[in-house]
Amino acid sequence: MSHSIAVGLICSDARLHRPEVRITERAAELLGIDHIYLIAKPGPNGVHKKPQAHFEALIDDFVLLIGAKNPSVLIIMGHQNCAGHPVSDDEHDLDASEVAQLVKARTGFTGSVMALVATYASDAEWGLKEVARF
Ligand SMILES: [Zn+2]
Repeated sequence: MSHSIAVGLICSDARLHRPEVRITERAAELLGIDHIYLIAKPGPNGVHKKPQAHFEALIDDFVLLIGAKNPSVLIIMGHQNCAGHPVSDDEHDLDASEVAQLVKARTGFTGSVMALVATYASDAEWGLKEVARF
């Protein structure tokens, strides 16, 4: 039986990666995916508003993992209360959506590109919502 794979861009923020938060596992469950290969960067859904080299490096990472792992889905996951991209909750949704659209266009990926946002309740408690798919 083959496993379904996603490549996901997520924040480096350690709070998201606490074992009890299970953010990667929950994203996999939400999307019906078995495994997610992660690209971790601070402020992932603000990368398109940083100097262009940041975005180009991200595209290189996606292209490498798309070629190596043949994912069925790509994920852009922003999160509220992000030090790397300190914007309002509404802007997080919009920016995750914009980055998902840009990544789809630049990589030429033919599968779905999902924009997700982890919503902040406390450092140990996060919600997870889908904000767009392309
Ligand atoms: Zn962050």
